[in-house]
Amino acid sequence: AGGQDGEVQKAQRAAEASEEPGQRPPTIFSKIIDRTIRADILYEDDKCLAFRDVAPQAPVHFLVIPKHPIPRLSRVAAGDAELLGHLLVVASQTAKVEGLVDGYRVVINDGKRGSQSVYHLHLHVLGGRQMGWPPG
Ligand code: C5P
Repeated sequence: AGGQDGEVQKAQRAAEASEEPGQRPPTIFSKIIDRTIRADILYEDDKCLAFRDVAPQAPVHFLVIPKHPIPRLSRVAAGDAELLGHLLVVASQTAKVEGLVDGYRVVINDGKRGSQSVYHLHLHVLGGRQMGWPPG
């Protein structure tokens, strides 16, 4: 496209500028990607990584993250659509490998109200027990 920024891009830039340090990449997940810290990695390709959550909230609990560090879901752009779709496909395929044949839960926490703690976009995949609704 090029040219003038649209309203969405302007609003996103303003939101990013107002974000506290520590609520932007690089985060601990960058260190998992570059192998500075260890993780139990289930799947990797050139675009993403899936690894077990260090504090599992279900018998199976893993995260799928993009290697490109998008801070949070509310900061994605239209150009991220293919990558976001890929993360869901990898979540589905990895859930299958993990034996989650009776269903599972996929969660993305966004920002303060969403209880996000690591500001590098990640899908939680939780399974191996019955999930409740509404979530907490
Ligand atoms: O969605 P939220 O940002 O709250 O989740 C971050 C997740 O990352 C937590 O479930 C936490 O246990 C996990 N984590 C991890 N390995 C780390 C740091 C955090 O699996 N080294």
